[in-house]
Amino acid sequence: MVTPITPTSRQRIALLGAAGSIGASTLKVLRQHRDAFELVAIAGHSNWQAMLPIIAEFAPKVCAMADAAAAHSLRQALGNSAPAVAVESGTDAVTTCAVLHDVDTVVAGISGFAGLASTWAAVSAGKRVLLANKEALVAAGNLLLNEAARTGAVLLPIDSEHNGVYQCAGGLVCEPSRIRAITLTASGGPFRTRPLSSFDAITPAEACKHPTWSMGRKISVDSATLMNKGLEVIEAALLFGRSGADIHVVIHPTSTVHALVEFVDGSVLAHLGPADMQVPIAHALGLPSRLTLDVPRLSLQQMGRLEFFEVEADRYPALALAYEALGAGQGACLVMNAANEVAVAAFLAEQIRFTDIVPLVDHSLQAFARFEPRTLDDVFALDAEARRFASAAMRERMVSA
Ligand code: NDP
Ligand code: MG
Repeated sequence: MVTPITPTSRQRIALLGAAGSIGASTLKVLRQHRDAFELVAIAGHSNWQAMLPIIAEFAPKVCAMADAAAAHSLRQALGNSAPAVAVESGTDAVTTCAVLHDVDTVVAGISGFAGLASTWAAVSAGKRVLLANKEALVAAGNLLLNEAARTGAVLLPIDSEHNGVYQCAGGLVCEPSRIRAITLTASGGPFRTRPLSSFDAITPAEACKHPTWSMGRKISVDSATLMNKGLEVIEAALLFGRSGADIHVVIHPTSTVHALVEFVDGSVLAHLGPADMQVPIAHALGLPSRLTLDVPRLSLQQMGRLEFFEVEADRYPALALAYEALGAGQGACLVMNAANEVAVAAFLAEQIRFTDIVPLVDHSLQAFARFEPRTLDDVFALDAEARRFASAAMRERMVSA
């Protein structure tokens, strides 16, 4: 049961990754409910230009830029125009935003493992955490969940599928005596019908052109390989306490149904909604109530039919890899995520081909699979080691190619 935020009447928000896609969707929700929310802190990496209009519109008290040069440029650009905002710099400053005393709710919208430190800090400080940053959970796993249990932090999934499961199941508790299985849908990305023979020629621009969602570049590539769904299977296993065998994936090209929960009596509840991240964000921000939202409504007549297909294993080998990692343990999930981040960054930088991503991740996974991190320090150490391994393996391949 999520209780209303107290003691102030306005819920006080720290938005991490404010200039990104999740950041933009969150701001759209806040804009529609100025009387209910106060944006206290924003954080990002280097895109200081995007912070200017956010500061002008929402007047946060703190803006943290991980990149020191970006913070410097932002201070100069602001001059005396926004004296009330403290521009802080460095990764510690980003983390500090997550633990500020006058913040109730942290929107964890930083992409990749880079979001772990601030997500962990928010959880350690017992905040209400709206979790978009799935890589943090995939990497830290039960360590993060145990920390939330210790501090009383409330984790609310805003990844659309997990938010859908949360709504159908009535929370995070999905015990087998009540719930038989969880199904996550995947649009299939931009290459669902593209001939496999042309996958070698896929460009970053093509991979980032998602058919139904508008998202950052890393998650867009992950959606094209289906690694995003693989990360989401692990995210669901952790959040809802189920094994991989109870979590299914189907291709559903229009992204109208986000998730389905099958109960032991045969009932199946599905979550439907517009493919707009404002919807899950508003749900989590509004709990235990509902916020009104100005998004196009679903029309069953226009929809006509809902289509579901099996996942083609040879088109999307990343999904089987993620199930394998989930079965192998937390260390394997972490390594898979780290190697994937290295591979996707290299693909976006046009250093490797689209079809090199999954083999590189697989190669890294096989090299590390049995190590289990026991502390947060272990998590950071193993992540760094896996990245070094993946980068070296990639360089070797590039030389021998
Ligand atoms: P974007 O690339 O659009 O935005 C990422 C944000 O993170 C940017 O604001 C970026 O800052 C910031 N950032 C990156 N690295 C750092 C760092 N080291 N320190 C501080 N800030 C950093 O990504 P998305 O919004 O698409 O995705 C964010 C997260 O949400 C991901 O984990 C993704 O999987 C998840 N998610 C996203 C969905 C979507 O629809 N976009 C849907 C479901 C989940 P800057 O702009 O300054 O570089
Ligand atoms: Mg999702």
